Amino acid sequence: KPQIGVLALQGDVREHVAALELAGASAVTVRRVSELAQVDGLVIPGGESTTIDKLLRIFDLFDPLRAAIAGGLPVYGSCAGMILLADRVLDGAADQQTLGGMDLTVRRNAFGRQVDSFETDVAVEGVPGPPVHAAFIRAPWVESVGPSAQVIATITSGPAAGRIVGVRQDALLATSFHPEITGDGRIHELFVSIVRREY
Ligand code: GLN
Repeated sequence: KPQIGVLALQGDVREHVAALELAGASAVTVRRVSELAQVDGLVIPGGESTTIDKLLRIFDLFDPLRAAIAGGLPVYGSCAGMILLADRVLDGAADQQTLGGMDLTVRRNAFGRQVDSFETDVAVEGVPGPPVHAAFIRAPWVESVGPSAQVIATITSGPAAGRIVGVRQDALLATSFHPEITGDGRIHELFVSIVRREY
């Protein structure tokens, strides 16, 4: 079984641990560099990207994680995790930094405030079967992608139709939404197959 870490500084860590186990991985929490060194892949959960950014620096994980991403570590970022994987952020906090690695520009809180959180079905390239039931919680969207990133999910109806909410770049995967809270395990299965280098 691949060993997949969940960055456990802030955010919905437990839900990702459970979803990864169901998808066939062995899931562990990661808070230290020594733990990071032992995983075959990493999930950066949703939460608050500015807080996770600050904690990454307090825990001395910012530079090691950046280096691991540059070295090809597979990483899946959901919501705040997507923001942290993006090379460029719009509407970020003044001193907000990202780990980067994915050639995309995200817009933070793009769908509106917390009360504008919603659920919808999203077809995701690489995920067979019916669309994924996805929860958006003060989510970012991808404003634009550079040539290295591949769009795998777009909103198809409603006021946000056409907005990009899923991207892939080599071993890096990011979604605006939270698949770990709607009981649809297929995004985690996709990530486990990326970690296994089967995809
Ligand atoms: N709005 C949060 C941020 O900017 C992300 C919300 C989430 O992860 N559910 O980081």
